[in-house]
Amino acid sequence: MSLKDRRLSDLRARIPEVTAVDALALQRGGARLVDVREDEETATGTPAGALRLPRGFLELRIEEKAPDPALPVLLMCAGGTRSLFAAEDLLRLGYEDVRSVAGGFSAWKAAGLPVEVPPQLDAAQRERYRRHLTMPEVGEAGQHKLLRSRVALIGAGGLGSPIALYLAAAGVGRLTLIDDDRVERSNLQRQILHAESRLGQRKVESGRAALLDLNPTIEVVSHDTRLEAANVLDLLAGHDVVVDGSDNLPTRYLVNDACLRLGVPNVYGAIFRFEGQVSVFGGAPGARPCYRCLFPEPPPAEYAPSCAEAGVLGVLPGVIGTIMAAETIKLLLGLGEPLAGRLLLYDGLRGEFNEIAVAADPDCPSCSHGARPELSDIAVVCGG
Ligand SMILES: [Zn+2]
Repeated sequence: MSLKDRRLSDLRARIPEVTAVDALALQRGGARLVDVREDEETATGTPAGALRLPRGFLELRIEEKAPDPALPVLLMCAGGTRSLFAAEDLLRLGYEDVRSVAGGFSAWKAAGLPVEVPPQLDAAQRERYRRHLTMPEVGEAGQHKLLRSRVALIGAGGLGSPIALYLAAAGVGRLTLIDDDRVERSNLQRQILHAESRLGQRKVESGRAALLDLNPTIEVVSHDTRLEAANVLDLLAGHDVVVDGSDNLPTRYLVNDACLRLGVPNVYGAIFRFEGQVSVFGGAPGARPCYRCLFPEPPPAEYAPSCAEAGVLGVLPGVIGTIMAAETIKLLLGLGEPLAGRLLLYDGLRGEFNEIAVAADPDCPSCSHGARPELSDIAVVCGG
């Protein structure tokens, strides 16, 4: 008896096996069916509803996908051998009820059980997103998630430029641009979405042209309009994440309150001269704090910088907007920890980042328990 055969008979003696038919019944009863074959193998078909987790990533990612170690896990490979080895790994990790599907996917198919074909990236998409695909944290499943994602971006200006460009490049499937401005020459010092050749165009149209030039496979929806209490819910509904790249306080309050109403996370950023800040509000449904917890009231006009006159170092929106894009992609992929409950501060002159904790205000009129934020148009607050 070879070493491998001895090892296998030892595993078979210790690891319970189930037939494909029983596996389906157990799956319908709540057990997690995990297909541990490689991506190339599952590309042509996998049991319907199975979790695809190639053996090499099984121990790294199973906890995230099946956090309860008491729930039964059924492992499947092509013929029922690799799944035995994989089962041993999960038992070692602490999973209590691990079984292997005898005969693997061959037996599943032979029994005529439900199979689904995972969506496929075409050759051009594989090439375009190669650096995502090679990262297990993104991979093919993550790239599909991005391709199915819908992000609303408010403002196609300084912050909106890097946000839109990076989200389009990453393959966010639908980007909604909302802005009511035209491209002016004075924008071009920082608004890298636009160009001399598109001066005078509506910003949403100029932006759309730039984004589709970068990635023609995504959809860009443009709304040449200003966000108001009357249209904000319609414009923002149906998106997975809202990114607020606006340059004025009334819009920020309105976006905050609308996102709370819609239950959509809101990625916030602001810039002024050499400084910027970023945070995420509502990183998970119902998560607090919100923008109003941080800034309960707009400042009086005499303290607010003039909207048109406030200077900004051209590269600054690049720094802050890029972090906002990173937070957005993290939210879409469910990766890492969102910048929620924290305000990240950037001091460009010192080249320094700082972070302050943002507490949820127990009396916040927008996000405290039972609050239903009223959507209202605040008069524009700009000094001078
Ligand atoms: Zn709040």
